[in-house]
Amino acid sequence: MENSVKVFTQITDFLDYLGDGLALEKDLAAGLDGHPKFPFLCSKHYADLIKKAECPMALLRQVLPITEENKCVAGFMDDPVGDLPAGKCENIIQKYDGRALVVSTATCGIRCRFCFRRNYPFQNIKEAAQQVSSWLDEHTDVWEVILSGGDPLMLGPGEFRDLIEAIAAHPSVTTLRIHTRLPVVRPDLSLRHLELLQHLAGRFNCVLVSHVNHPDELDQESATFFVQLRFSGWTLLNQSVLLRGVNDCATTLEALSRKLFAQGVLPYYLHQLDHANGVAHFEVDDNSARELVAKIRTKLPGYLVPKLVREIAGEKSKTPV
Ligand code: SF4
Repeated sequence: MENSVKVFTQITDFLDYLGDGLALEKDLAAGLDGHPKFPFLCSKHYADLIKKAECPMALLRQVLPITEENKCVAGFMDDPVGDLPAGKCENIIQKYDGRALVVSTATCGIRCRFCFRRNYPFQNIKEAAQQVSSWLDEHTDVWEVILSGGDPLMLGPGEFRDLIEAIAAHPSVTTLRIHTRLPVVRPDLSLRHLELLQHLAGRFNCVLVSHVNHPDELDQESATFFVQLRFSGWTLLNQSVLLRGVNDCATTLEALSRKLFAQGVLPYYLHQLDHANGVAHFEVDDNSARELVAKIRTKLPGYLVPKLVREIAGEKSKTPV
């Protein structure tokens, strides 16, 4: 394995790197190596987390394509949360009053097999800064801008700075929120932005919402990133997706909340799965989800119990489950 290799794009290389002991998943992966719409991608960092994990399968399931993704399941669709009808221009989605979400890039550090935007038609992302600026000129009621994607921290330093500066030029925007999974999948790329992020707390109320689903995804590198942001004045929250075979266990969810808190991050949302085509095998039914949250509520202080929610297309807020 060369040190220069940062990502795996071929399942066979990835499984070879993980080594023996995962034969079952190799069989499951058969035939999907070239999944055309949402190809396999895993960072070396995430592969190393899998190797070190107490529950390697919980992480592996999040990145390894399996044949069940090809099943058509009633109620699952390409745009499960109504992103397209809420599109305001090519890079902006607005569902809620006063807030707007920027689709800042199509790329991510890994491709999560349960992703709700796995079928999203990303386009013309290159001019995001200019488009966002023009749109904000006309929408001075927007006080919070959310950078999403893809993963906004995947942007190169120049593009990222341009986008931030375009937003910062609008005094009406007082809060900047960044949704990212990069601190646990490509901490090296997250750290490129650290200096700029640290300065932003003087201009905006800054909120970073990480996406961590399992305690084995957190390590010393994520802690380094989170702690430095926190001491710069950022509010750090986490959202997880409840996933069958990954974190549908009270012990895992309790450990996740406690480990997040140890790294300075508060659990925020536990999302019921968005019904994107190809993800049905991850679903946990609502009753089981409620029971899980009831269990962790007896083990954790209230501030470490995430809100169990679902996003329903067209609703004006997330819906408690
Ligand atoms: S990091 Fe987020 S946007 Fe990217 S594939 Fe994973 S869930 Fe989807």
